[in-house]
Amino acid sequence: MSSFIALPQGLKEETFAKAIQEFRSLLGENRVRSDQASLQPYMRNTIAEVADVRKPSAVIYPAAPKEIQGIVGIANKHKIPLWTCYGGENEGYGSAVPATNGQIILDLKNMKKVIEVDQELGYCLVEPGVTYDELQQHLKKNNINLWLDTPAPSTGVSVVGNILERGSGYTPYSEDFLFSCGMEVVLANGSLLRTGMGGIPNSTSWQVFKWGFGPYVDGLFSQGNNGIVTKLGTWLMGPPPPGGYMPFCIKFPRKEMIADIIKPLMFLRQAQIVPNACALVNAGWEAATCFANNRKNNGGFLKKGPGVIPTKQLMDSYDVGAWNLYGAVYGSPEQVALNWMYVSGTFKAAFGDKIRIITEKEAKNDPVFEYRKQLMMGGITQQSPLDRWRSGGGSMKFSPTAAARPAECYQQAKIASEIVNKHGFDYLSEFSFFWYDARHVVDLRFDRTQPDEMKRAYKCYEELMNVFSKHGWAISRTNSGFMDKVAESYGPAMRRLNRTIKKALDPNNILAPGKSGISLG
Ligand SMILES: Cc1cc2nc3c(=O)[nH]c(=O)nc-3n(C[C@H](O)[C@H](O)[C@H](O)COP(=O)(O)OP(=O)(O)OC[C@H]3O[C@@H](n4cnc5c(N)ncnc54)[C@H](O)[C@@H]3O)c2cc1C
Repeated sequence: MSSFIALPQGLKEETFAKAIQEFRSLLGENRVRSDQASLQPYMRNTIAEVADVRKPSAVIYPAAPKEIQGIVGIANKHKIPLWTCYGGENEGYGSAVPATNGQIILDLKNMKKVIEVDQELGYCLVEPGVTYDELQQHLKKNNINLWLDTPAPSTGVSVVGNILERGSGYTPYSEDFLFSCGMEVVLANGSLLRTGMGGIPNSTSWQVFKWGFGPYVDGLFSQGNNGIVTKLGTWLMGPPPPGGYMPFCIKFPRKEMIADIIKPLMFLRQAQIVPNACALVNAGWEAATCFANNRKNNGGFLKKGPGVIPTKQLMDSYDVGAWNLYGAVYGSPEQVALNWMYVSGTFKAAFGDKIRIITEKEAKNDPVFEYRKQLMMGGITQQSPLDRWRSGGGSMKFSPTAAARPAECYQQAKIASEIVNKHGFDYLSEFSFFWYDARHVVDLRFDRTQPDEMKRAYKCYEELMNVFSKHGWAISRTNSGFMDKVAESYGPAMRRLNRTIKKALDPNNILAPGKSGISLG
């Protein structure tokens, strides 16, 4: 029996043990761990897989790019795969679970430097161990008045990790990879690359001009496995003046209204009257958020167990809409007042008194409104609001992208809810509206201790994927268990190109093989 929890595929135990010794000579015993207790946080699998096929073999904690260069040298020598992450977050997308068994987790949580914050232009350069809450504390401590763009759970979550995963927030910046600027990357051969303007000695514009000269390569390191990012620049929003931010919520009484909501909404978005990535949250997700925030307006908590809770019951028990639209207007106080008249007038004209419009005044101290208010100004929120909805720790986010057209979003919501309900789960969903697309996220929550529920959840996710693919709707982010299938859906030409790039940059397949379905194995 092996003395390790898992071994990389095809590797002999003696070779692995030798490599561990070499990693320890480089970093010391404490920063190279292979014992059960140290690996536990990285084994928190939330995917609906019965077989234990994605266990890490060890975890390594580098603290500097030079150490990472040394690590990839050893990994190349012994052909050992390294799965890069921060602390095991990435909830709903597989946490820290590697794509294949026996990969060593390269946890960058010790790389905690905020290297630069430029107040004048509004950008920062950070290492991958910096979390959103730490970056915000840094801004506060140094009296820097700039806004972050945070994902929903932002405490203890890596800024670099979220941006590289092409995650998103809810402020006008929202599309986070678009607002990143300049990277430093350790390549698989151990060399250090700075992208964009970063290769110019004494460059003054590494974090202000993205494109550099020649092909734009930053994309190779997002949702990819072609390098380990050791520094990343990102733009930070200058906040509006006092009185220049007004969040709102509009509650709609019927699910079928989704198409009628999107028509005026996209006009307001594209005209930049509502400039942020608005969230259209369904009754299930909203009720789960109420539940997590202990808001029980009309009755109390629902008993949590298996089975589907009807929308009407969710709406009545939690005083939520069938759809709940969260957006905001920004600018000078005068602009905000004018734009708000326009926004509220547009929705009143379209829906009359069927809708309920809530601003801070009506919300009073409602914690759910406060949570959304924080998100739309890049504030820090504590934990995933859906954690407690269904016990048992299973979560797989199904994340297809829709063109932000009324009929398409209506169809996606209808088809997804029918499939999810048919398999016996609540349809918990949110659409976020970006420039042209609506990102539809369905959080499939299930009990991992119930074998039958695990099977149903797996089948449900698979069916969602197959049916959505037939409509031409693809997934833009997934967990380690489904990466290969999602990559397949993008066609053979893209797979061949990704493999060619991987072969050229990482011929020993040591960097996160299987990430986004890319591997030489
Ligand atoms: C209820 C709920 C709501 C959520 N809301 C949002 C949301 O609003 N927006 C959103 O985007 N996400 C959301 N998520 C998903 C997820 O929680 C976040 O995206 C989170 O930020 C990811 O964690 P992380 O950044 O610490 O991940 P990490 O584990 O650090 O990174 C994720 C992946 O990025 C790659 N990576 C990380 N660091 C590096 C590096 N230095 N070099 C190369 N590759 C690297 C790795 O492949 C890694 O697996 C939500 C999740 C839940 C449960």
